[in-house]
Amino acid sequence: MPYLTPPEELGTYFEGEPTYRVDQLREWLYEHPVLKTVDMTNLPIAFRERIAGSLWPFEVEMEQSSDQGTTRKWLFRARDGAAIESVLMGYPKRTTLCISSQAGCALACTFCATGQFGFERHLDAGEIVAQVAYAQAFLRQIGMPGVPDHITNIVFMGMGEPLANYDRVREAIRRMVEVMGISARSITVSTVGIVPGIRRLADEPWPVYLAISMHAADDELRTSLVPINKRYPLAMLEEAAAEYFEKKRRRLSIEWTMMDGVNDTEDQAFKLAAIARRLHAHVNLIALNPTPLTAEKASSESRINEFARILKGEKVNVTIRDTRGQDIDAACGQLRVIAGNSRKSD
Ligand code: SAH
Repeated sequence: MPYLTPPEELGTYFEGEPTYRVDQLREWLYEHPVLKTVDMTNLPIAFRERIAGSLWPFEVEMEQSSDQGTTRKWLFRARDGAAIESVLMGYPKRTTLCISSQAGCALACTFCATGQFGFERHLDAGEIVAQVAYAQAFLRQIGMPGVPDHITNIVFMGMGEPLANYDRVREAIRRMVEVMGISARSITVSTVGIVPGIRRLADEPWPVYLAISMHAADDELRTSLVPINKRYPLAMLEEAAAEYFEKKRRRLSIEWTMMDGVNDTEDQAFKLAAIARRLHAHVNLIALNPTPLTAEKASSESRINEFARILKGEKVNVTIRDTRGQDIDAACGQLRVIAGNSRKSD
């Protein structure tokens, strides 16, 4: 399958085809992605037909739209049955594509729907890149009302922990930057805090943004919400994040899902402010999106505003994130397959 073959090896996959033909195909796959092979206008019909059934490494099982057509969620199904979800959010001047790096997730953060569903498998580099190519083709050929016709931001905030699937995620980023021509500055890797992964990413040549899903500013609380904190406690995480900042000079962001009475207290706000200041990090607050098995409740708007006020008072940059696609289970932390037809729940 074209997207599952490293772009540089397409020629081996299409042995016998002239080099220029393979180059043309590579351009269609990565530089000007199209939804269907019939749109690959400069390729001979026979060649197009040869790949027609295998262009995408998955089928589009479900496509849902909300927010007046400016949010779209896709449920892709790989041939082996693994589910891959992506969400595209359009704004007047930008588009953000949220992609998955794993089918399911092993890290079991209490409030996250993907974690509640368990781990299925890692996604291949090609499966990660194909999500980007598909959304790019969609924007170009179908589009969203009042939205740019291309992807401006890519965030690894869909299903899975990108740094737990390091080599494939690395290769996916390489293909995006070197083959698709996407700027590394438009890519954000979001992590629950896999310290060795942060260190490795800091040594890669691409200046991608790093988002740390922190959610709690002391180890006791953090371990109760994000179990991997036991292995990589806050002090270690902060050290690795600081190292990333030193090496890349990319502003870090700290993600903080606001949970009523859990991590929205004054005490947490002051502790978070201290960490954020030391890291020169920007804090994103987001109200918890309810998931079927979450015990925690979302903080009220007034609590979130108060929390933000404390951070600002401590000279920390803070944004309260809007939530998109809640009605289609496309919001942060809601991605997981409910269709009940993944291998795991069979
Ligand atoms: N594993 C990576 C990326 C996937 S989660 C990470 O943890 O960063 C993407 C973001 O959504 C993370 O910041 C995560 O903490 C947040 N999130 C998870 N569940 C959520 C929920 N139910 N409501 C709001 N945000 C949630």
